[in-house]
Amino acid sequence: MPADAPRIVIVGAGPTGLGAAWRLQELGHTDWDLYERAETAGGLASSVVDDQGFTWDLGGHVLFSHYEYFDRLMDTAVANWVEHEREAWVWIRNRWIPYPFQNNIWRLPDDDLIACLEGLLDLHRAPPTSAPRAFDEWLLQSFGRGLCDTFMFPYNRKVWAYDPGKLDVGWMGERVATVDLTRVLRNLVRRTDDVAWGPNATFRFPLHGGTGAIWRSVADRLPAERMHYGCQVTGIDTRRKILTFGDGSTTPYDTLLSTMPLDHLLLSLRDQPTLTARASQFVHSSSHIVGVGLAGETPEEFSTKCWMYFPEDQAPFYRCTVFSNYSPHNVPAPGRQWSLMAEVSESPDKPVDGARVLDETVAGMRACNLIRNDPRIVSRWHRRLSYGYPTPWLGRDGVLMEIDAQLTALDILSRGRFGGWKYEVSNQDHSVMQGVEAVDHVLRGSPQPTYDDGM
Ligand SMILES: Cc1cc2nc3c(=O)[nH]c(=O)nc-3n(C[C@H](O)[C@H](O)[C@H](O)COP(=O)(O)OP(=O)(O)OC[C@H]3O[C@@H](n4cnc5c(N)ncnc54)[C@H](O)[C@@H]3O)c2cc1C
Repeated sequence: MPADAPRIVIVGAGPTGLGAAWRLQELGHTDWDLYERAETAGGLASSVVDDQGFTWDLGGHVLFSHYEYFDRLMDTAVANWVEHEREAWVWIRNRWIPYPFQNNIWRLPDDDLIACLEGLLDLHRAPPTSAPRAFDEWLLQSFGRGLCDTFMFPYNRKVWAYDPGKLDVGWMGERVATVDLTRVLRNLVRRTDDVAWGPNATFRFPLHGGTGAIWRSVADRLPAERMHYGCQVTGIDTRRKILTFGDGSTTPYDTLLSTMPLDHLLLSLRDQPTLTARASQFVHSSSHIVGVGLAGETPEEFSTKCWMYFPEDQAPFYRCTVFSNYSPHNVPAPGRQWSLMAEVSESPDKPVDGARVLDETVAGMRACNLIRNDPRIVSRWHRRLSYGYPTPWLGRDGVLMEIDAQLTALDILSRGRFGGWKYEVSNQDHSVMQGVEAVDHVLRGSPQPTYDDGM
């Protein structure tokens, strides 16, 4: 990296790019610019107000935080928050089971419960002796056959849009809780619900404007003359270090911090055919976000639920959020309306008919008893996100490591949800910190634990 005062160019005004820009300002570095193809900031963490006045996130965004830096940024960005206790449920066998599912299998019908227990006891009697080669094996070794067949396999197929056998291991970290057999048995005997969120039992959400309000506010606090919207990067000359935009204009850089999807970045490298050829190795899924605005008060049954998982085929969605619970202002008439937001995954292995997904989602909501007694639907909203989940495909880590080393040698850092392509560190807090740590690395040579170690 150039030693003194490099010109740093950021591509993308999502949380990663904004985190980087924020850090540059904080450090008093003056030679930087940010280019974003959209007309506003926020990326996948944006919010939308539909024609009926309902606010939607692009998928249910829950603000986790693993970093004090991120907490301080949130406090600066938004004054008014709504505090929530997490309450997540699984709809299965026509009943609600509290999440984490494995702790609460006592609520299952007897046959399913027995299958889950047999699987757990088999694991206990004969613990696995070899390392899992793929995510399906990891699930089997962690939860046993019964839990996998009942919930883990169908749910994971639905959320990833790929068979778990196509996914790698090692990325899960804290995301998937493992099973404590004693605890499962104790819950069964006592018939107690066990939600086990630990220290992350609460989260906060902006009172106004959805998740996107956070990022609009961060962007507004950065110097306007450095924030360039409506600028899509279409080509990169890595030898002369020049970016080209859709309108043919160009800008030079010393260091490029890119947050566009990594496969797109590779395809933009006009003078690096070996890297460009690797773009086809990357695997991702798309997300359909479907919002349904309803007249009337939130039914009692949903008045405290945050989000719900749907492993079965009754509904096309894998998750649904009672979005009006996140803030009363997510609906135009608080107290007299409520809203549900569902997420449907899509991939070449799991095609989705975009023209029918809205109707199918509403039908699924009825089939799963989310919508009952025919309330009036006052709004229907749908958005397809071409890039939704960065799939941790088999062999991902080796590919990422090689490509990152080659890009770094060209003074290019690719970071963020699809810039880094590491699902395990692709939430908003991780994304911001990938941007912050990238800047610290360029200017101070410090390590990048979020990206490098997936912490
Ligand atoms: C369905 C769903 C649910 C989620 N739920 C949660 C959650 O509960 N909690 C949580 O913390 N996070 C959640 N996230 C993740 C969150 O959205 C991401 O952490 C965050 O948006 C990633 O920020 P980013 O800047 O890396 O990428 P993005 O938000 O994708 O931003 C990248 C930006 O780059 C721009 N860009 C792309 N290509 C170009 C180009 N060629 N030229 C110029 N600009 C370009 C894009 O327009 C975009 O604005 C969820 C995401 C999805 C999709």
